[in-house]
Amino acid sequence: MNIGITSTIPIEVVYAAGHTPCDLNNLFISAADPSHLIRQAEDAGFPQTTCAWIKGIYGVLLENKIDTIIIVSGGDCSNSIALGEILKHDGKRIIPFSYPLKPDLKEIEQAINKLAGELGAKPDKIIACKQQLDPIRIRLAELDELTWQEMLVTGEENQLHLVSSSDFNGNPELFSTELENFLKNARKRQPTKKGVRIGLAGVPPILSKLYSTLDELDVAVVFNEVPRQFSLPWASQSSLAQQYSRYTYPYAVHGRLNDINKACKERNLDGIIHYTQSFCFRQIEDILFKRTLSVPTLTLEADQPGPVDGRTLTRIETFIEILKG
Ligand code: SF4
Repeated sequence: MNIGITSTIPIEVVYAAGHTPCDLNNLFISAADPSHLIRQAEDAGFPQTTCAWIKGIYGVLLENKIDTIIIVSGGDCSNSIALGEILKHDGKRIIPFSYPLKPDLKEIEQAINKLAGELGAKPDKIIACKQQLDPIRIRLAELDELTWQEMLVTGEENQLHLVSSSDFNGNPELFSTELENFLKNARKRQPTKKGVRIGLAGVPPILSKLYSTLDELDVAVVFNEVPRQFSLPWASQSSLAQQYSRYTYPYAVHGRLNDINKACKERNLDGIIHYTQSFCFRQIEDILFKRTLSVPTLTLEADQPGPVDGRTLTRIETFIEILKG
């Protein structure tokens, strides 16, 4: 059975129960016409002032036969909780998964066990699934290194692969084979040379041409903060609970800021673009990004899917000029 997920969760448990996780965000943004899915949600009553990702997920579920959805009820956002309530009323089976407030190992273990109980996943099967996924996560860490160390993988390719690791496209074997081929070909490339190195922090941008716009401005994106977190590159050295305790996204923002500052130093970043989604509570956290990050930071906001608009382009160009200066 396909099980929809609204954010990164311990998919090892879903696979161990014999189901296929399906990241609804990825289905939304890769749809032929994501705006159409948003309009469908608005026709169903979702306010215009609701985050487009939430509406997009609802639109996806109107068009796809996915009857069971794991909603992240703790560690994501209150919009997801409200979405779960609507979906339950629509007749879907909703399974809540809640990250604890702090990355406490015991509490994470309890949350994982609760999910395993709901889905009927056996402990030995969960371990076996982790052992199957860990080597793919190691390969994704290699892809990340090819991005920031070797300059053989573009920021956009990096983002696409890392974001897809939230569910491994529902088929880890195929994902692994395609990844191996990609890495093999990437190693044959010539390194790119760019004038400016930046990191992209925040939720994955809803804008379709942000990476190509930056590329045209002689900018290399060598750090995709949240997508890298989705890929859990440290997984192989830890238990499942440890693996998800190091995942910064669901916990206090300070963990994310430390992670970004570490990347600024390690990856020699000239600046950070902090992407925020319109109507998202994480826009408030931008205050701390501005106060805490060790490199110049530009905040970009977008609401709807589509290319970079003229005003945003001007702001990016000015920022890059400052970094070059
Ligand atoms: S972008 Fe913000 S408001 Fe929208 S689903 Fe993600 S966390 Fe929630």
